[in-house]
Amino acid sequence: METSRHFPYGFMQREIISAKDINTRVKALGETITQDYQDSEKLLLLGLLRGSVVFLTDLMREIRRPITMDFMSISSYNKSESTGFVRIEADHKTNIQGWDVILIDDIIDSGYTIRTVRKLLLDRDPRSLKVCALLDKPERHKVDITIDYLGFSIPDYFVVGYGLDYDEKGRNLPYIAAIDISKEEE
Ligand code: 5GP
Ligand code: MG
Ligand code: MG
Repeated sequence: METSRHFPYGFMQREIISAKDINTRVKALGETITQDYQDSEKLLLLGLLRGSVVFLTDLMREIRRPITMDFMSISSYNKSESTGFVRIEADHKTNIQGWDVILIDDIIDSGYTIRTVRKLLLDRDPRSLKVCALLDKPERHKVDITIDYLGFSIPDYFVVGYGLDYDEKGRNLPYIAAIDISKEEE
């Protein structure tokens, strides 16, 4: 893998989506959401901590109507592989009954996290519930899920940047980079 090192993180990284391309896509998503929710009185952007924070805060500034933001923190029981058995570490504060909710995540891999959280939120009786993700790895899906608003589909790479981390590193990279964990440097 080529090295294009923005910060010295100790791993090789290769930019796959530039900051400019992210910005263009986020603007377009904001435009679509603005159109789709013209008749909504209560629109909630509900982000999954912590990976979605950069995406959510950029996206909300491209939505030309009032929004509320809230967050949930979810952890998977099995750290290495998402299983769908998730634990709520911190719940959202808004009572979402009657709200139009857009659930926002950084990346969809197996799809288990989104599927599980979606079910849990539906039990809380929102007026509507849609899913928005910055990235999707369709090759990795293990369950059928619908992504209503998607930034980019990517191959089966492990990626960091724009909120996404590897062991808490790389979240502040302004672009998305694929990293090769097997070739860690000293
Ligand atoms: P799923 O339940 O869809 O398998 O897991 C989705 C979660 O796994 C994401 O929210 C993210 O936390 C993590 N994840 C999956 N693929 C990647 C990746 O390529 N990079 C990073 N940083 N996290 C990932
Ligand atoms: Mg996540
Ligand atoms: Mg992570």
